[in-house]
Amino acid sequence: PAAPDWERVRADFPLLMREVNGKPLVYFDNANTAQKPLSVIGAVDEFYRRYNANVSRAVHALGSEATEAYEGARGKLARFLNVRADELVLCSGTTFAINLVAYSWALPRLKAGDVILVSRMEHHANIVPWQLVAQRTGASIRVAEIAPDGTLDMDALHAAMTPEVKLLALAHVSNVLGTVNPVREICREARRRGIVTVIDGSQAAPHLELDVAAVGCDFYAVTGHKMCGPTGTGALWARRELLQEMPPFLGGGEMIKEVSFDGTVFNDAPHKFEAGTPNIAGFIGLGVAADYLDGLGRNHVAAREQELLAHFTEELQRIDGVRIFGTAPHKAAVVSFLVEGAHAHDLATLLDLQGVAVRSGQHCAHPLLQYYGVAATCRASLAFYNTHEEIEAFMAALKKVRTLLG
Ligand code: PMP
Repeated sequence: PAAPDWERVRADFPLLMREVNGKPLVYFDNANTAQKPLSVIGAVDEFYRRYNANVSRAVHALGSEATEAYEGARGKLARFLNVRADELVLCSGTTFAINLVAYSWALPRLKAGDVILVSRMEHHANIVPWQLVAQRTGASIRVAEIAPDGTLDMDALHAAMTPEVKLLALAHVSNVLGTVNPVREICREARRRGIVTVIDGSQAAPHLELDVAAVGCDFYAVTGHKMCGPTGTGALWARRELLQEMPPFLGGGEMIKEVSFDGTVFNDAPHKFEAGTPNIAGFIGLGVAADYLDGLGRNHVAAREQELLAHFTEELQRIDGVRIFGTAPHKAAVVSFLVEGAHAHDLATLLDLQGVAVRSGQHCAHPLLQYYGVAATCRASLAFYNTHEEIEAFMAALKKVRTLLG
C-alpha cells in the first residue's frame, strides 16, 4: 500500500490540536511517551462503557467479552512483534519486563564470578535491575563502551564476551542518542558463546520495522505507551523453554491452576507471570495501537520519521553553538543537543513558553551522560505525526531562546 496522507493521520491525534502557553503545541517528546490516536482512546472508553468485567474468571457474558478482548490484544501485539502469543507475557512496561527477567531468570542462576554485560548507552531500567541481581548473587557488571558518535564499539563488545559472561542486556535503540544497535549480529555472536540476551525494545517497537523473531534474542521487552498505547502496558517476549524454566515472579490469582495449603500448581506461561487483575482496558488499547501502526505501514512510519529526522538535523546543525550528541549512521528520530552557554533545563523551559515540548535532563541514562561529560541535554524526539512546519516552528523558537539567553 501507498504511504498514508500524513495530514490526515495527524488528525487522528486530538491532543496535537491543542495550544500550550498561547502557542500551537509542538510535541517533540515522543521518546518519553507517544500521543494516542482516537481509535485507542475509543477502545479504552468502550471497554468501560460496554463490557467492563474481570478476565479469565467469570462465566457471564461480560466476563467472556472482556477475556476475549484481552486475549485478542495479546494476539495483536504478538502479530505486531512477529512472535507467538503464548510466549508473550503482558506486564506494565519495559521496567517490569526487565525486572521479571532479573528476578525469575537471572537471580536463581547467576553466582559469584559470573558477569552481566551491559552497554554504556542503557536506560536505568536496563542497568539497575542487573545491579540488584549482582549484589545478591556476587556476579559483576561489565560495560561495553561506545564510540563518540554514539555507536557501540563492536570490537570491544566482542572482546567483552568472555566465558564468564552469562547475560547480555542491550537497548535495541538508544533513548538518548537514537542509535540503532545491530542486535541481530550481536545476538548471533552471543548465542554462539552461550550468552543469554535481553533486548530493551522500548524505543524500537514504535519506530522500526521490528521483527522480534528475526532478532534472535532470548528476551525482548517493549513498553506500550511509547507505541501509541495506554500507559501501564507492555510485554516481555521470551523463548518458550526459558519461560517454562523460570519460576513465577509474583504470586496471586490467575497465575495458578490449583492452590492448597500443601502446595500450589502454577498456571502455564505466559499466565504464570500475570498474577492479579491486569490493566485490561490498557491492553485492549495497546492491541488497537499495534493494529493502528500496522495499518499505517511500519515501513511508511519508519520512512516518514527518517525524513523528519534528516530535516530536523540539517536545520539544527545550522544554528551556531549547537552540539548534537549521537550521530550514528543508523539512528531513530531522537536528537539530544545542547546550545553553548545555556543550561538544558533553561532551554526546555523557554521552549515550553513557545509551545514546544522537549525533554531536558539525564534521560534516565546517567552513565551515558557521564561519558559525554555533560550534566544534562535537551532531547527532541519526533514521531510520524509531527510535521515539517513544526520543525520550522521549533527552529524559530530555538533561535529566539538563544537570543534571550544571550
Ligand atoms: N528503556 C528505554 C530505552 C526507555 O526509553 C524507557 C522509557 N524511557 C524504558 C526502558 C522504561 O520504560 P517504562 O518506563 O515504560 O517501563
